[in-house]
Formats: sequence, structure tokens, C-alpha cells
Amino acid sequence: MANLQGKTAIVTGSTSGIGQGIAEALAKSGANIMLNGLGDAAKIEAQRVAFEKNYNVRAAYHPADMTKPAEIADMVNTAAAKFGSVDILVNNAGIQHVSPIDQFPIDKWDAIIAINLSASFHAIRAVVPHMREKGWGRIIQIASAHALVASPFKSAYVAAKHGIAGLTKTVALEVAENKITCNAICPGYVWTPLVAGQIADTAKARNMSEDEVKAKVILAAQPTRQFTTVEQLGELAVFLCGSAADNITGAMLPVDGGWTAQ
Ligand code: NAD
Repeated sequence: MANLQGKTAIVTGSTSGIGQGIAEALAKSGANIMLNGLGDAAKIEAQRVAFEKNYNVRAAYHPADMTKPAEIADMVNTAAAKFGSVDILVNNAGIQHVSPIDQFPIDKWDAIIAINLSASFHAIRAVVPHMREKGWGRIIQIASAHALVASPFKSAYVAAKHGIAGLTKTVALEVAENKITCNAICPGYVWTPLVAGQIADTAKARNMSEDEVKAKVILAAQPTRQFTTVEQLGELAVFLCGSAADNITGAMLPVDGGWTAQ
């Protein structure tokens, strides 16, 4: 496990699911954490306090809305001012909406592109000068198997995640000589509130029961028939922050039980 003591990580969307798991893994490895995401203020504060108590790190919370570029820049600059640097950025916040293309709500398209794609651009744009100044950095994009392949009824999500693939590779090339890496983790299905929430919509779009969706649509895509866990993704993020990953950049790393090998 990499020792991240003295480093600072921003994890967007870390009040739930994968982001929460990655923030916890980074804190466990010694990094100070800037939490971000929506949710109940008391629960978020309890999470912040637990990180400080359990892992002997400093933790703060910034409420930046990932649809607002100015708030994203403020989150990055606040973390740099509070902790002295931003060494690790995990672009994780994301939403989903499942609907046939001709009925896809325009406001959902706009929100998915803003949160799942543009927010990552705004955060990277703000963080790169801090990383260049330190001469070290790690940018980790939580993309998806849907950055590599498509599924029907997820036009906005698949478009945004394919966009993340292009952004990841471009940034990796631009910062390659600055000891900054930029990689994308591409999970298949991970059991989180995001996945639980799309089962009903998928059932409607495909005219199936919710149990059928879980068995025939979700786990059917993954040859291992297993959900990926947030703990597995947390350990991969920590690995990407360690010296073994110094020369891994611009990579799309599937964690999808063989889905995209088919
Ligand atoms: P989740 O719903 O559990 O968590 C999403 C997080 O994003 C929450 O903390 C939420 O508050 C935050 N968020 C949403 N809108 C926001 C906004 N406007 N501003 C700030 N924060 C906002 O979802 P998850 O499953 O943990 O997904 C996290 C990421 O992983 C997403 O980018 C998702 O696309 C990706 N992903 C998930 C799966 C999966 O199977 N769960 C698979 C592949 C990729």
C-alpha cells in the first residue's frame, strides 16, 4: 500500500458509493481529504470527523455543485489553501438517467454532461497548476465500462464517459513530463445507490421486472457474475497513487469482470 502521508486528495462525490470508498482508502493510506458531494449535512460532518479520528488525517468538506464551474474552482483553491497543496484529484461525482433517445429529457442530458464530463474538465483545469508547482500529481477519473462500450438507453451517460476517455488521454499527454499522471478507472457494475436507482428505470425501458433486470441485464454483462466492490476500487486508486504506478498514464483500466473483453 502506498504511503500518502502529507498528501492531499480531493474526491468529488465522496458522500456516497464509490467516491466514499475511495476517499476512505486514501485516508487510510494517510492522505488529507477534501470531501465533496450532496447529502445530509449531519451525516457528512460525521463522515468527516470519523476520517480524522480513525485515520489520523485532516479532512474537510466543500459543498461545490459539480454543475457550477466557479464552485469547482473554489473547491480546488480552498483545498490548496487549507492543506498546502492538492496532490491527488479523483473525479468521481456522477449521475445516471436511463431512457430511449427520442424520449430522453433534455434537462437530464444537460445535467449528465455537466456533472459526468464538464466537471472533470473544470477540476483538472484548476488543479494542474497546483500539481505542476509541487512537481507531482495524480488525476484519477472514475469513468465506466461505458467509456469503452455502449448500452442502449444510456445515451448521455455513454457520451459523457466516452468524453472522459478522450479527456483522460489528452491530459495525460499534456502533463506527462511534470510527474503528473492521469488515468481512468472503468468499473463495470458496482453495487451503490446509483445502480440501485437505475433498476426501476431500466425495467420500464426494457419492459422487464426488476429481478429480471438484475439477473438478465446487469450481471449478464459481466462474465464473472459479480459486482465490483467500492473497497476494490479504493485499493486500485491507492495503487495508482504509489510509485509502482509512476509510469502508468493515459490508461483506461477496466474493473468489469470481463465485460469489455467480450
Ligand atoms: P452514487 O450515487 O452512490 O454517488 C454519486 C456521488 O456524486 C454522490 O456523492 C453525490 O452526492 C455526488 N453528486 C451527484 N451530483 C452532484 C453534484 N451536482 N455536485 C456534487 N456532487 C454530486 O454513485 P456511484 O455509483 O458511487 O457513482 C460514482 C461514480 O462512479 C460515477 O461517476 C459513476 O458514473 C461511476 N460508475 C459507477 C458504477 C456503478 O456501477 N455504481 C459503474 C461505473 C462507473
